[in-house]
Amino acid sequence: MNEQGELTVPDKLIIPFIEGDGIGPEIWSAAKAVFDAAVEKAYGGEKEVEWQELLAGEKAFTSIGSWLPQETLETIKSHLIAIKGPLTTPIGGGFRSLNVTLRQELDLYVCYRPVRYFEGVPSPLKRPELTDMLIFRENTEDIYAGIEFPAESVEAKKLITFLKQELGTEKIRFPKTSAIGIKPVSKEGSVRMVRSAIQEAIKKNRKSVTLVHKGNIMKFTEGGFKQWGYELAENEFSDVTFSWNQYLTIKKEQGYEQAEKALSKAKVEGKIIIKDRIADIFLQDILLHPEEYDVIATLNLNGDYISDALAAQVGGIGIAPGANINFQTGHAIFEATHGTAPEFAGLDQLNPSSLLLSGALMFEYIGWLEVRDLIVQSIEAAIKNKTVTIDFADQMTNAHCLKCSEFGDLLAKWVKEQ
Ligand code: NAD
Repeated sequence: MNEQGELTVPDKLIIPFIEGDGIGPEIWSAAKAVFDAAVEKAYGGEKEVEWQELLAGEKAFTSIGSWLPQETLETIKSHLIAIKGPLTTPIGGGFRSLNVTLRQELDLYVCYRPVRYFEGVPSPLKRPELTDMLIFRENTEDIYAGIEFPAESVEAKKLITFLKQELGTEKIRFPKTSAIGIKPVSKEGSVRMVRSAIQEAIKKNRKSVTLVHKGNIMKFTEGGFKQWGYELAENEFSDVTFSWNQYLTIKKEQGYEQAEKALSKAKVEGKIIIKDRIADIFLQDILLHPEEYDVIATLNLNGDYISDALAAQVGGIGIAPGANINFQTGHAIFEATHGTAPEFAGLDQLNPSSLLLSGALMFEYIGWLEVRDLIVQSIEAAIKNKTVTIDFADQMTNAHCLKCSEFGDLLAKWVKEQ
């Protein structure tokens, strides 16, 4: 990555991958066939990818006795990007989760999840095609910091005493039996994440960025996030954005009509509207008025719920891609958003599309857009033809149900024939 934040990508590229546990090897093998076909089709040998396997998870533990070998981390650090299948969360291995460890070690502060509808995918919505959002979830702070103490522990008692004696807190309803968790939310952490969301909105010509929060209840953490987000838009992006704060100021000073006029003018000029929504209303709105939302910026816990709710609206985790990115250093790990689905491991049944679309995000990230397009188009074509894996076939009429490997082969063949 150069000083302007642009990636310099060699034509012969080594990309590290972690195949993953459970269904990981099956979906990786199906996805790799499509990636290779798409790179070959797009560049006819002028650009090439060499895949370098990195060990992590059960495979690493079984072969070298470590769940997350240092070499794996070092290789990702030096290569900037990697792609991974799902990893088992080790029980009693000293890790809360391998994914969380990877995110923390590389300070991957954005969890990026684009959510769009593929025509023909079974969805619980009447108009699923109206859902088209880019979710930016803060990935390093909030209650995910892991500062939590069990009820009646020495630490919890100490903290409760401190809160009472030093800070005069009288609001803990049952102090003797309360577990305690801490929710750190910083200005730096919020601002760098919202900045990435606004920059992506500019790059992708999106109409709005919505700050989703619970600032009505958590005034300084979630409310701070909202305030810093608006301040950032006004301080750094005033030429390309119009914020709801500005609207309210005009309304207060000049009346409703002038505020509406200013909003319309900003829209005509193609400015990005910066607005905010309370998280609970937002969850209602994404079902009732999904067309009103575009880029979403939110804190860690809200983002966790929102990502899965939105994924379900357009077909579920079998087709939901994800990436964990540090836009300042360039480090990024692209990953299937589902888990290892251990009960299906070895059956060659489930959907590799989540990993495939994560790969499409990766190729977009490095600027190989032709490869991204071929991957996405091959999935679109397969679903349109109702040739799908069991998770979709079960919910479609007259679908042709393929194994995971057959689905990968079909997509690779489609790519080669373009
Ligand atoms: P899971 O996502 O593995 O499975 C839940 C269900 O989702 C499955 O039973 C299956 O019906 C469906 N599903 C999952 N992947 C699918 C696919 N590709 N296509 C179609 N349907 C799919 O969640 P879980 O059972 O709660 O977790 C199993 C393990 O995975 C745990 O060890 C957990 O910690 C881990 N996990 C890892 C990640 C990750 O690596 N990113 C994420 C979540 C869970």
